[in-house]
Amino acid sequence: MTERYDLHIHSNISDGTQPLTELVPLIHQAGLSGFALTDHDTARGWEQAAKLAEHYGLDFLPGAEFSCRYEYQDHKGRAHKKSVHLLAYGYNRHTSELSNRVEAIRAARTERVQQIVKRLTEDYPLTWAQVQQQVGAENDAVGRPHIADALVAAGVATSREEAFRNILHPGSKYYIRQESMGVIEAVQLVRAAGGVPVVAHPMSENRGLPLPMQALEEMADAGLAGVEVYHRENSQQNRQRLLEFTRARGLLITGSSDYHGAGKPNQLGENTTDAQTVHAIREQIRN
Ligand code: AMP
Ligand code: FE
Ligand code: FE
Ligand code: ZN
Repeated sequence: MTERYDLHIHSNISDGTQPLTELVPLIHQAGLSGFALTDHDTARGWEQAAKLAEHYGLDFLPGAEFSCRYEYQDHKGRAHKKSVHLLAYGYNRHTSELSNRVEAIRAARTERVQQIVKRLTEDYPLTWAQVQQQVGAENDAVGRPHIADALVAAGVATSREEAFRNILHPGSKYYIRQESMGVIEAVQLVRAAGGVPVVAHPMSENRGLPLPMQALEEMADAGLAGVEVYHRENSQQNRQRLLEFTRARGLLITGSSDYHGAGKPNQLGENTTDAQTVHAIREQIRN
C-alpha cells in the first residue's frame, strides 16, 4: 500500500478542538503513515506529538502555520493587504530570528483577541472569562475560533462557521487585524532558521480575493519549497494553475486536510502527500 501523509493538522494548542492525546490515535485510525502538526504560530506540541507518534507507529514531521500578509497594488493602483498562511517544517524554534518574531506575534494574539472581545461585549452577552473557558490549558495561540466557540456556548451562534460569517469576518466592525510577518520575509526567515516553507491553501477564496500569482512568484524567488495544491479551499481550476506553477518553478506539491477537529468539516487524510515528497522536505531541513 502506498504511504500517505497529512501535512497540515491543528490541535487544541492552537485552534483545533482536540488534544494531541485524542488526535494522534485518530491519525493512526485514519490509516495514515505519518503527519505534520502545524498549529498556528507555535511549536509547543512538537515533543508530545513526536512521542505519541512513536507510540502509534506514525512518522512525525514538526511544523507550524504562520499567519502572514502580502501587500500589493492592483492594476488600478488600489492597495490590497492579503492574508497568506505559510506552513514551515522543521525550523529551529529556539534560537532563530524567526523564533523571536513568532514569539512576539504569538504574544500579540492574546491582546488582539481581548480587544475584539471588548468590542463584542457592547452588543453581545459575552465576557473574556467565557472566551477563556473555551481555551484549553495546553493552548499557546488564542484566536477568533475561540471567540466563535464562546459565542456558540452563549447561544449567539450555532457554529464556528456561522460566528465567522456573521460576526468575526474581517469586514466586521468588531474585527481587529492580527500582527503578522510579510510573507516574502517569512519565507526567508523560515529558510534562515533551517526550515522548509510551503504555502498553505494559496487559492482559498474564503478570505476575499485569491492571492495574485505575482505573490507566488515572489515567494518562489525568496526560497519557497512547495505549494499545498491539494486542499479543499483550492478549486479544481486553481489546482491546475498551481500545478503548472510548481512545474515551472520546480517546487514540491503537497496535499493536506487542515484538520481542526470539530472546528471545521475537514477530515483527517481527505487530501494527502506522498512519502517521496515528505522525504524531499526532510532533505531540505537544515537543523
Ligand atoms: P485568527 O488566527 O484569529 O485570525 O483566526 C483565523 C482562524 O480561524 C483560521 O486559522 C481558521 O482556522 C479559522 N476560521 C476562519 N474562518 C473560519 C470559518 N468560516 N469557520 C471555522 N473556522 C474558521
Ligand atoms: Fe485555524
Ligand atoms: Fe490556514
Ligand atoms: Zn491551517
